[in-house]
Amino acid sequence: MNSTDSTSYDVMVVGSGPAGSTTAKFLAREGFKVKILEAKSHVGLPVRCGEAIGKETINDILKIGVPKFAMRSEITGFRVYSPSLKVIDYKLPSGEGYVLDRRVFDKELLVGAIVEGADIELNTQVTNIKINKKTGVTIKANQRGKEITETAPVVVGADGIYSQVARDAGLAEPIEPIDLDTSIGYEMVGVDITEPTMLDLYMGNEVAPRGYVWIFPKGEHCANVGIGVGVGFAKKGVKEYLDDFIFNNPEGKRRFKKAKIIEERIGAIPVGGSLEKLATDRVLLVGDAARQVNPLTGGGIAYGMEAGKMISDTLVEAFEKSDLSESFLRKKYEKLWDNAYGKSFSMGSKARKILDILTDEQMENIIETFDGEDLTKAVRGRWNQIKLGAKLMKKDPTLLKLLREVLGN
Ligand SMILES: Cc1cc2nc3c(=O)[nH]c(=O)nc-3n(C[C@H](O)[C@H](O)[C@H](O)COP(=O)(O)OP(=O)(O)OC[C@H]3O[C@@H](n4cnc5c(N)ncnc54)[C@H](O)[C@@H]3O)c2cc1C
Repeated sequence: MNSTDSTSYDVMVVGSGPAGSTTAKFLAREGFKVKILEAKSHVGLPVRCGEAIGKETINDILKIGVPKFAMRSEITGFRVYSPSLKVIDYKLPSGEGYVLDRRVFDKELLVGAIVEGADIELNTQVTNIKINKKTGVTIKANQRGKEITETAPVVVGADGIYSQVARDAGLAEPIEPIDLDTSIGYEMVGVDITEPTMLDLYMGNEVAPRGYVWIFPKGEHCANVGIGVGVGFAKKGVKEYLDDFIFNNPEGKRRFKKAKIIEERIGAIPVGGSLEKLATDRVLLVGDAARQVNPLTGGGIAYGMEAGKMISDTLVEAFEKSDLSESFLRKKYEKLWDNAYGKSFSMGSKARKILDILTDEQMENIIETFDGEDLTKAVRGRWNQIKLGAKLMKKDPTLLKLLREVLGN
């Protein structure tokens, strides 16, 4: 690709989370001069994550660059528990998933970007961007208490859920409370880990309204234990739900009898699906800034990383054509995104809407009707989905009414 002059940058990436570092890595590999601006003095901390990532959520996890030594444990499937602890065991068709150490993971992704040639400035909080369609983007930032100004032909906003870049570029849509999960997690030692390669998810309106409690094994002794709860569905604080499960629920009491909390994490997850508009003139968004988070699972790490590669592909063509207009950037980037994840995000949104109103009894009936193999078949084909739907309706006809209400006829 033809870069601009030797002293300036082609692209400024705001934020060095997984999405920002991966975007910078792919851009630098293509020959772009890239600089990352990061508000904090470090990356990967504080951890705000359950740290699980699966091949099913991403087209090519290893190609996109998951550093091997950031993987704390390998995962082969997950187990969903109903409120009365009935279980579905689901084996990942690829058998490939990981619980990561985000402290190591995020830093390694940044190392990867720098090795490819990207530059970084820490302690640099972007406070404002101004777009001039013809000349470029001016970025104001607070760097260790001083205001600095940077300019670049293109800015990528990888600055997380409360993205400044998205707001200044006019791309941020207000998040409705129904599209937000609040989440808290602990890293715990001494958890009873029944099966180290399985993720455990506990469902139920008393356990985690419109969400789940997770136990993600992390090495021999540790597990990430957390909860995501739909804002507006909770009758008490999210920490109260998690502590209730750990200390008062019979299952929690059994599994956490000897466990100690060694780290606490808190954060919000946008689960309303990706923004409709992912770019404007000279600005593109990626990761949580673009709300590229699976509406059903709340997982966002892998999607932001893969979208980073899409941004790199988009900008290669945009620079070749000297076209950094909204219409070109949106057409190319949104097409790549929609082709890869449009369908699965739309299905995830529908499934989440069902969870919004599912009663515990209906949840029990679903989990009683299916086994893991059924789920595998359902993922693989429409015909299987129809057959399984029929099986489910026979068990609980109220589900048909619910599905009609949510999905239409
Ligand atoms: C409790 C919890 C559990 C989760 N569990 C999982 C899970 O198990 N699996 C999964 O896939 N996803 C999970 N997620 C979601 C996942 O953590 C995010 O989707 C992912 O971190 C998004 O990556 P990102 O690079 O887009 O943003 P972030 O990781 O948020 O990184 C944004 C970066 O931008 C920087 N920044 C912000 N503003 C500015 C600014 N103005 N100027 C400069 N820099 C700035 C920040 O300091 C940060 O380094 C979870 C989220 C939460 C809250």
